Amino acid sequence: MKQPFVLAAAVLLLLFPLGGATEENPPVGAARPRTLVICLDGVGYDLAVEMHRRGELRHFLPPAPLITSFPSDTNPGLTEMLAPLGAPPARGYEDHYFDTAQNRVRGGVFHRLTRKHFIEGTYRALFHYHPNPVRMTAEYAAPVLGPWLNGVISLARIREEFKKSREPVFFAYFEASDLAAHINGAWLVRQQVRAFDGWVGKLLADREHPVRVILFSDHGNDPRKMRAAELAGALRRAGFRLGGAIKDERSVVLPQFGLVSTAVLYTAPGREPAVAEALRGARGVDFAVYRRNDALYVVGPKGTARLEAREADGTLRLRYRAESGDPLLLECILAELTAAGEADPEGFISADAWLRATAEHIYPDPLRRLWASFHGLMAQPASVVVSLEDGYYTGSWLLDVFAPLQATHGNLRRAQSRGVVMSTDLGLFLPYRGPFTGANLLPRIFAVHSGSVPAPAPMLVALPVEGMAPAPLSP
Ligand SMILES: [Zn+2]
Repeated sequence: MKQPFVLAAAVLLLLFPLGGATEENPPVGAARPRTLVICLDGVGYDLAVEMHRRGELRHFLPPAPLITSFPSDTNPGLTEMLAPLGAPPARGYEDHYFDTAQNRVRGGVFHRLTRKHFIEGTYRALFHYHPNPVRMTAEYAAPVLGPWLNGVISLARIREEFKKSREPVFFAYFEASDLAAHINGAWLVRQQVRAFDGWVGKLLADREHPVRVILFSDHGNDPRKMRAAELAGALRRAGFRLGGAIKDERSVVLPQFGLVSTAVLYTAPGREPAVAEALRGARGVDFAVYRRNDALYVVGPKGTARLEAREADGTLRLRYRAESGDPLLLECILAELTAAGEADPEGFISADAWLRATAEHIYPDPLRRLWASFHGLMAQPASVVVSLEDGYYTGSWLLDVFAPLQATHGNLRRAQSRGVVMSTDLGLFLPYRGPFTGANLLPRIFAVHSGSVPAPAPMLVALPVEGMAPAPLSP
């Protein structure tokens, strides 16, 4: 009975602070709370809601959805979230990636084993606790035991490091939940999240060391029966040749590493529309998107649309124009927003209005996420990015043989795109400022902790990004 009472009292104190005491002006003798922020890789919103309803998360307020990047994968997702702290654009969508400047595929398993290649100079360096890269890679060798053991060790290390640290806002990265969701299924993820909840209960009970705890995830995970998409066959039938470099007009590079619901393809300049057309209607393909001139083109069995953006006075405005059909199923919402006076004379609508109107859509916040994936999130954006239908995946044949897939992420759709935010206090949720996204999570956390976002880490900003000069992230 004691812990629920303490939690209720803490909530009441937040709502009705006594004697004018605020976080900016704590009462004499009261320590300012530290903020512990933990990324639980790949924990989906729906699973967190189910756990909360069943009373498995006793120390957190009800979860809120968090709309992550597109593709809904870790590298773009955490790059977007940690950009306010200085995370540079991601080198690759996954750890095995195509370097357009060097015209070759780089990274891979060995790249993951060293801090120098895997962590330094990336968003990963911004975590105060990041799991050991060798342990993170070794867990793939033992599918059920690996994520369990890595999870137990990581939680113990986060507890230790947080206790030792004096950081007012401590960031930890817990990775084992993603592989657990992919290959073990929800039971192990639930066990891992419950273990965090138990530890958080002990932290909250320590009145001498006040702390608020925020858990979030970098993307969702959609548990269902999975089938392989057919990309290579469709490309070959259209006359393209798959390989490790761009040699001529027919070359396509398709790096494959994990087992995800997205694919990134690299082509010779000008060949993007032909590759996207070749994939229209291929088994498992929802749509392909490519950039041409100043616009993005979305091509799929449901039609073709053009997406354009404008930025003025710090506001991003986006225009969706269907050329045939309605590939992102936005025509109704577009008509509603236009009728409500949100569109300017040329049809551009603010990213904020699109976000509010599409937060619960089958494709949550699709336009801003598609735009960001080609403008600032990646150091070397792909020529064509494919979003697969739910229930389809593509990736490494080796993993496909050894790791039967229970769930995955990567596409633009809701279950895979929605991560979660949970907090032990109301500050993060009140006043309501619209849905959480990868772009607004960190500013909101720092607003609760101290009222402002710290300056980006200089060592990361100064690091050159290979290949091209990064464009600034869209707000
Ligand atoms: Zn994953």
